[in-house]
Amino acid sequence: DTERQREAVVEALENVTARLDEEKSHLTDLDSAIGDADHGANMTRGFRKANEKVQDMDEADPAELVKTIGVTLVSEVGGASGPLYGGSIMSASQAFSEEGITAETSVAFAEAYLEKVQDRGGAEIGSKTMVDALTPAVHTYKKSIETDDLEPLEALAKAVDAAERGVEFTTPIRAKKGRASYLGWRSVGHQDPGATSTLYIMEELLATAQT
Ligand code: ADP
Ligand code: MG
Ligand code: MG
Repeated sequence: DTERQREAVVEALENVTARLDEEKSHLTDLDSAIGDADHGANMTRGFRKANEKVQDMDEADPAELVKTIGVTLVSEVGGASGPLYGGSIMSASQAFSEEGITAETSVAFAEAYLEKVQDRGGAEIGSKTMVDALTPAVHTYKKSIETDDLEPLEALAKAVDAAERGVEFTTPIRAKKGRASYLGWRSVGHQDPGATSTLYIMEELLATAQT
């Protein structure tokens, strides 16, 4: 069972990395409009390295693997997204340490991840950041599992839909956090890169869970 979960984490990471590679220039374009044009490179560099790291961790449990992904992103990526993605994954990985990956622990992971992103970055809904994709996704996931009693796969599909709407919401609003906020009103009309990469990652988690 631990072995299956280990394989699932490795497979999800491979799928996420391949997707970010595919979307690299799109993410760079988004970041060149309202940032410094490195989000595509940041994400692909971080996730490729994380991929390498987990390949030789045959003995690790899911929590250790997920933690390693976070640690690697922190050390490889830098900028705003390194500590936000990496630090939050690192810390939220504790949710898997006792019982591995279950419906319940996956909700705990998602909630802890969102909480860390907000603690570190200070962004709220409407700041035009990854938080705009993440917040509705995490709330939808939690409600789908805990209140509506859906299977994790269905819950994740609903969370992806919510994240997609969150990404769309970033376009018409003005940035209040991160580099894009330096542009003030000129950030209006551009989709947020970090919200977009968050959606891609979630879509790949769903695709992995569906196979
Ligand atoms: P940098 O801005 O350092 O070049 P990236 O380009 O890799 O880093 O990432 C930019 C993304 O990080 C933004 O699109 C936004 O989603 C996210 N971001 C930036 N600052 C914050 C923050 N304070 N809170 C949450 N997310 C943030
Ligand atoms: Mg950037
Ligand atoms: Mg940068």
